[in-house]
Amino acid sequence: MESKEKIRIALTIACFAAISILFTARYRKHRKQRQQSQTTCYLKTETKPQSAFKRVLADNSYAPFRHLNSENDENSSVEHPYKAEIEALLKRARVEFDFVGDGNVDLKLSDSYVWIETESQLRELADLLSKERVFGVDTEQHSLRSFLGFTALIQISTQTEDYLVDTIALHDVMGILRSVFANPEICKVFHGADNDILWLQRDFHIYVVNLFDTAKACEVLLKPQKSLAYLLETYCGVATNKQLQREDWRQRPLPVEMVQYSQMDAHYLLYIAHCLASELLQLGSENSASADDKFRFVLEASRRSNAICLQLFSKEIEVSPGESAAASIISRNLNDQGGLSLRPCDTQFQDLVRCLCMWRDLMARIHDESLRYVLSDHAIIALAHKVPASETEIYDTISQADLNIDSPNIVSSLQSPSPVVCSHLEDFIYLFEDEVRNLEDIFQLILQNHLGPSGSCPLSVYSYALLSRTNLKLVNRLVSKQNGFRNAKQIGKKASRQLFVQKFSCKSPVYHNCRIYANDGRLLCYCDRRKLEWYLRRDLAKLLDENPPAIMLLFEPKGRPEDEDNNFYIQSKKNICVGCGEGNHYLRYRIIPSCYRVHFPEHMKSHRSHDIVLLCVDCHEIAHAAAEKYKRQVAAELGIPLFVRKVVDSRQDEDASESSVSLEEAGVSPLQLRTAAMALLRHGSKMPSQRREELMQYYGGREISEEDLERALLVGMSPNERRRLLKKKERAFKRSTRVIIPEEQETHDGVAMSATVDTSNLNDIGSLDAATGKPCSKEASELLGTNDADESSLSSCPDLSINGEILSADYKDINFDSRRISEIKHISNFDTVVDENGSPKPKTVNTVQSVSNGTITPKHNSKLSLLGHGPHGKQVVDHLLNEFGENGIRQFCQKWRQVFVEAIHPRFLPSGWDVNHSGRRDFGEFSVYNPAKKASANA
Ligand code: AMP
Ligand code: MN
Ligand code: ZN
Repeated sequence: MESKEKIRIALTIACFAAISILFTARYRKHRKQRQQSQTTCYLKTETKPQSAFKRVLADNSYAPFRHLNSENDENSSVEHPYKAEIEALLKRARVEFDFVGDGNVDLKLSDSYVWIETESQLRELADLLSKERVFGVDTEQHSLRSFLGFTALIQISTQTEDYLVDTIALHDVMGILRSVFANPEICKVFHGADNDILWLQRDFHIYVVNLFDTAKACEVLLKPQKSLAYLLETYCGVATNKQLQREDWRQRPLPVEMVQYSQMDAHYLLYIAHCLASELLQLGSENSASADDKFRFVLEASRRSNAICLQLFSKEIEVSPGESAAASIISRNLNDQGGLSLRPCDTQFQDLVRCLCMWRDLMARIHDESLRYVLSDHAIIALAHKVPASETEIYDTISQADLNIDSPNIVSSLQSPSPVVCSHLEDFIYLFEDEVRNLEDIFQLILQNHLGPSGSCPLSVYSYALLSRTNLKLVNRLVSKQNGFRNAKQIGKKASRQLFVQKFSCKSPVYHNCRIYANDGRLLCYCDRRKLEWYLRRDLAKLLDENPPAIMLLFEPKGRPEDEDNNFYIQSKKNICVGCGEGNHYLRYRIIPSCYRVHFPEHMKSHRSHDIVLLCVDCHEIAHAAAEKYKRQVAAELGIPLFVRKVVDSRQDEDASESSVSLEEAGVSPLQLRTAAMALLRHGSKMPSQRREELMQYYGGREISEEDLERALLVGMSPNERRRLLKKKERAFKRSTRVIIPEEQETHDGVAMSATVDTSNLNDIGSLDAATGKPCSKEASELLGTNDADESSLSSCPDLSINGEILSADYKDINFDSRRISEIKHISNFDTVVDENGSPKPKTVNTVQSVSNGTITPKHNSKLSLLGHGPHGKQVVDHLLNEFGENGIRQFCQKWRQVFVEAIHPRFLPSGWDVNHSGRRDFGEFSVYNPAKKASANA
């Protein structure tokens, strides 16, 4: 070959290499950009005031708004909760107002006002208002950085004082004012109340009953104007700067001029009402034949006002997300072109407008921003016309469009493109790339990319319900009518299923299947690695086998599994769903619901590992539904209701913890529950019953079983997430004057705990204890139950203090309570926890017997959870014990296993698992469960 030829070949190769390097680099860069923008949603660094709200009545999902006391049924027509009261007002034949008392109204706006920002101040205010006959009200809203908007301030003026209620700080407790607003004996004076009425419902379930709207009075009086500015000027001689109306009312502290403005908005209302009412009476007198007749104009104003109160807030529901905005943009654009007929490219334009509007709608909901904040209509039009091809072009198109907007006042202060757009630019590439723009795919993509299992944006109380099945169904139903959402239902289901699996299944194998042999070579049990190592570190055992690991104990254990005639505990267990064999994901399932089990006599709480199995998500759901059904059957058969419905005085928190929620057949999304649980738990001990009811109301008043909550709360959290939650809880614990320990905090059937804490205690729990058998001290229950001083010794080795150290407890008998306590200790001392290498002190080793022994009844009635079924479980267990003794409990357990088997038809249960698994056995000399010993201890 000529050298020329060679050179040519070499050059060609070099060229190819260079090109491919270039391409790879560009590809990488592109990918990197994408990844960056994927992972840096601006919300991860920006906190908005509303993200601190725990109780959000109107979230950004497509689910309809639930009114106070409304049934948890989408289809039931909504009734105004105070319909009767308002209608009574509408019907009254006479009305007399006394807006200003002696008439000595302070027309001057003084500098003094009362800023209400704490719950106790709010309670005082409610108390004070309940003694008034009338007060004036105005509210200020924030709507730019929120999808539905929220009330940022409520101004309340009495004849003597102006109150400014910081409804951001007090958002979650504003229900305190509900009763004064609903009290028909107290007249509320607003000006132009239409919106305020709805806003108060939306944010606080506050319903106004007995309204006098000064704007309505103006109407009746045929005033030339009915603006508040006009009235202020006419009657009070004051000028206002209504510009401030549009300010950002989230600011804290509020600038002085905004305080003055807002104070003034309510301050003069009573005086203005007084003047208008006098005029109305006057008008009546002049035009009346009878004495009663002179009230007719006052009555008319009153009626018109109260008619406003009958309005109900509702979310706007669209056929498909963004559809109405798209329609208006498209029609405007047609008008702008002088109504020209459609050109071929207009279909593309319209499709893009629809895509962009859907994107904007979902993004606004996900991030809790207004549509305008996310993307302006102008920008949507510009984008749809231009179809930009790169991220830079998209960026430029948007900022250019926003620069050209003529009304610059608010908009100019906005960042363009918005942070929402900037941090999610990659979405547009998809929107524009796709030739066939399918709204169904877009909806799915946005949801997955942003809120899905590995989504880029934070889940919040505003957005989580977008993912929940019920709401997706709703969207699908609405959307499928007119658009191409063929199988949107499945998509929604699939998406939420994926999320569920990812978030809620066990993160690591539950069973490690390490073996422990007795010193005579007989197999004692299977356990996890940590436990094995624990023995080895203490020279209590020697290693027999590396892989799979096995050890032999160097001492004589107390009991042997064979003693019980049950091979279950010496089976190796597979990390698969016992129902269908699914091995990729699984969660723990408790066959005997904890609401009962927690009340079993201590010595009957054995067989835990027998009655906790692994199930995949599908089987879990089936089993759970069957269990819930059977619970209701139990409730019906024994006449012990699942839920106690009672309104408890907020002072009686003890009792409050027993009241609970109403019942619903349908399942509840774990995410919803998690949020509910978090909100409830954050308020821990102090939540007044009324408040909790409100909260439950918000969560639809649906049934929240303790299992649901357990799952919902801790399930599937990464160790970090979990840690964060526990820290929050710790704070709550510290704040609270009395400690409420959530019932069975540890018993997350189906909960994937951080592996260090929980993976071990399934098939092996207690078997170690059988293997050992040391006497235990009695201080333990105090230590574990109440004494904080010694926590460190426990927390130094949490897992083992739970399992491995429970040395003398009988075989399989480590009860939940001990674990609960230690876990709760972790919760309240999370910072000091988990020293993997920390060696437990000998004392700790000795403490455990009484841990399991003592009923671990921390003070304050901890067994009744704020969240669980309340007294039902205990009543059932007490009933069974009274009627049938322990045999009753055993049969009860068997029945539960039967329910489980019938629901799942499990094909992969470990051999030895038995519906009739008995709890009967003898007790060792040192056994904590030995009834004789127990009796003597009590004596
Ligand atoms: P007002 O009834 O004047 O106290 O207004 C109550 C709230 O309504 C204000 O805080 C604003 O958020 C909102 N609002 C009323 N009028 C306007 C307007 N013209 N533009 C923007 N926001 C308004
Ligand atoms: Mn105002
Ligand atoms: Zn985001």
